[in-house]
Amino acid sequence: MGEVREKRRIVLVPVPAQGHVTPIMQLGKALYSKGFSITVVLTQYNRVSSSKEFSDFHFLTIPGSLTESDLKNLGPFRFLVKLNQICEASFKQCICQLLEEQGDDIACVVYDEYMYFSQTAVKEFQLPSVLFSTTSATAFVCRSVLASVNAETFLTDMKDPEVSDKVFPGLDPLRYKDLPTSAFGPLESILKVYSETVNIRTASAVIINSTNCLESSSLAWLQKELQVPVYPIGPLHIAAAAPSSLLEEDRSCIEWLNKQKLGSVIYISLGSLALMETKDVLEMAWGLSNSNQPFLWVIRPGSIPASEWIESLPEEFSRLVSERGYIVKWAPQMEVLRHPAVGAFWSHCGWNSTLESIGEGVPMICRPYTGDQKVNARYLERVWRIGVQLEGELGKGTVERAVERLILDEEGAEMRKRAIDLKEKLEASVRSGGSSCSSLENFVNSLKMKNS
Ligand code: UDP
Repeated sequence: MGEVREKRRIVLVPVPAQGHVTPIMQLGKALYSKGFSITVVLTQYNRVSSSKEFSDFHFLTIPGSLTESDLKNLGPFRFLVKLNQICEASFKQCICQLLEEQGDDIACVVYDEYMYFSQTAVKEFQLPSVLFSTTSATAFVCRSVLASVNAETFLTDMKDPEVSDKVFPGLDPLRYKDLPTSAFGPLESILKVYSETVNIRTASAVIINSTNCLESSSLAWLQKELQVPVYPIGPLHIAAAAPSSLLEEDRSCIEWLNKQKLGSVIYISLGSLALMETKDVLEMAWGLSNSNQPFLWVIRPGSIPASEWIESLPEEFSRLVSERGYIVKWAPQMEVLRHPAVGAFWSHCGWNSTLESIGEGVPMICRPYTGDQKVNARYLERVWRIGVQLEGELGKGTVERAVERLILDEEGAEMRKRAIDLKEKLEASVRSGGSSCSSLENFVNSLKMKNS
């Protein structure tokens, strides 16, 4: 006989992007294990992993599409603004049907902070709503601060190289240039999204995929400023691991890793959205080749503009990577980071990649591309001291030196020690009695109290 589940349902509303889908599905798994039924509401643009881990979840897709030209031209931030406009009514309709048809309670709607269209329905049907932040607590603090800056003054400051190198008041060690502004669109549109997410916030609680041992002061700031309970329950990839890759993983790289020396490989991946200029790809290839260390490089199709994959790169590229490099389109990242041959992770510092790397005790070469990645990179270098950030123009000499620092020098060994120390703290935080585990319990209890 199948397990009898409680009739209380949690509705999840994910952003259609790998880095957002992964943690919200892990959250779903954690909440499912606490006895809730899980409904995931998708837009036309979401895909989710078909992993059997989610076979008991209920998936609904709401209507609402953008024009071809919008899809081509908007870029991620304006796409999100548009998506919020076109999904508001259909989400309301969907919740209405759920309430009529399912005959069970909706314990709460957990929405990715960028899917704020959900708030209209939540208000109308008086449902508890919970904001889920898939970024670090520190990036959340930055967005809250940016939502209320004077846009005009901030724009002028950011354009002034002297100011942009300075520490932003109250956010030490973050400089103006580390703040989560976007490479994908004008600063005005990102500030608009931040202020919309803040203004529309009606959530009665906030869940963050982070933990006290990484970000206690940012979490304390949020707890004080947001005036609703903040639950740091991460890292979710440890607390509730679930395969959620949207692209096909090339597992041949594990066999290649099996043949490499302990701690010798640099794993390079820039996540699901970041782009690379051809000239930077070549500088990287030269630097990596000159370092004489083996490297596993994920080059996602479409990540080099005007090139389908790597076929249009100059012949020099193949020569440089052929001896010590192994290239794949998408890797089983968690398994790669866990592999004993991996000595360092060259990353764009997306929050999932950052947590995954720390969770395996792997130090990082940080080359942020956009948004919160810059915040994470600064923290990796200056606060947790387990990474080196490459800033400015990328040159082969800088690449080679960064690899040496991490893989060969004493400095790298020290970083690895600190990373392993943090890994142990992360694991402890999601174990029974740990801060994230208790935070999840507190969240679940708060729902029980609300619904009793
Ligand atoms: N990832 C993966 N294989 C790859 C590259 C990335 O499975 O070859 C996963 C990675 O483990 C992480 C996610 O994709 O969970 C990327 O999320 P992140 O927040 O780091 O960056 P984003 O893609 O949002 O920029």
